[in-house]
Amino acid sequence: MKVVMKQEAKAGAVLSEMDIPKIGPKDVLVKVMATSICGTDAHIYSWDAWSQNRIKPPYVMGHEFAGEVVEIGADVKSIQVGDIVSAETHIVCNTCELCTTGKAHICKDTAILGVDTNGTYAEYVAIPETNAWKNPKGIDPAYLAVQEPLGNAVHTIMSGDIIGKTVAVVGCGPIGIMAVAVAKAVSASKVIAIEVNEYRLELAKQLGADVVINPMKEDPIARILEETEGLGVDVVAEMSGNAIAIKQALKYIKLGGRMAMLGIPTAEVPLDIANDIVFKGITIHGIAGRKMYETWYQVKGLIESGNLNLDAIITHRLPMEEFEKGFDLMASGDCGKVVLYPTK
Ligand code: NAD
Ligand code: ZN
Repeated sequence: MKVVMKQEAKAGAVLSEMDIPKIGPKDVLVKVMATSICGTDAHIYSWDAWSQNRIKPPYVMGHEFAGEVVEIGADVKSIQVGDIVSAETHIVCNTCELCTTGKAHICKDTAILGVDTNGTYAEYVAIPETNAWKNPKGIDPAYLAVQEPLGNAVHTIMSGDIIGKTVAVVGCGPIGIMAVAVAKAVSASKVIAIEVNEYRLELAKQLGADVVINPMKEDPIARILEETEGLGVDVVAEMSGNAIAIKQALKYIKLGGRMAMLGIPTAEVPLDIANDIVFKGITIHGIAGRKMYETWYQVKGLIESGNLNLDAIITHRLPMEEFEKGFDLMASGDCGKVVLYPTK
């Protein structure tokens, strides 16, 4: 089968051939229908410092996907051949204290599909039954593929009170723009999108942002105070990982507000903890992955409600052979979700 391999410990990837994976008794084999490029894949492709420490080439990249089950292991009960599945990409131990108390998303023995195992930039992928999420039939597979990052957005927005709250989404990459749509769908009163890339600000607007701010063009602190009667926002969804943006957000968050942090800074970020966190009485919530499987049911419900406007999220669709074009788009930032198709 055709695959996109991270062949060597350096920038780039190659189109290659390998055998269709063999499955164990608790696994399912899935024919990949659509697979989207995640920011993590872009980091692995460019071979940044994080990837150099984590990734062990050669292996098959990719983890956001949807496909049709073509074979099931002898012990598999909940999935059948012909089912259309996506994957929760955190493969966890299912036995530790965290896994058995509703916190499997932070299991310390987590392996990530397409990061620590062979992934979905392939015609076929093998995944554990416990990681397969069964989808309704008849939905565009590209939308099913992006449920995984959509889950990140839902987990972030739903980590506390949201109805009637003012929300700042900081960083409108693919997950940030989805967070804008989610916040609108669950009745936040005003959603303010902050992003340095104009193409992505435009997407944020299309996905429902009430106010868009480019911090390269205007002071986000002054503008947000103006938009919130001088009080600041109730909720910050931090999705940029940018140190300056994080410090600014702590200035325009309301007293007693909530900051949900998904973005991953590349280095330590010094903060004014006394003035910006302690005396403001704010809550900071770290968001890792998706709750298993509470977040997935929330995603399902949101999609079925018809309130979630995701039309503009997928901006590019390419045959998998053109993966380099996809990664160039990701590097430019002039895209939402880029979807690859392993078969025509
Ligand atoms: P992305 O890198 O595409 O998005 C980040 C966005 O932030 C970009 O559009 C960038 O232009 C913008 N940005 C940079 N500096 C800014 C600033 N000063 N002000 C406003 N915006 C700024 O990433 P993504 O795929 O959308 O993911 C969002 C973040 O979440 C990333 O940091 C990613 O690494 C992280 N992530 C975390 C988890 C988790 O489980 N915690 C999972 C997936 C992704
Ligand atoms: Zn565990």
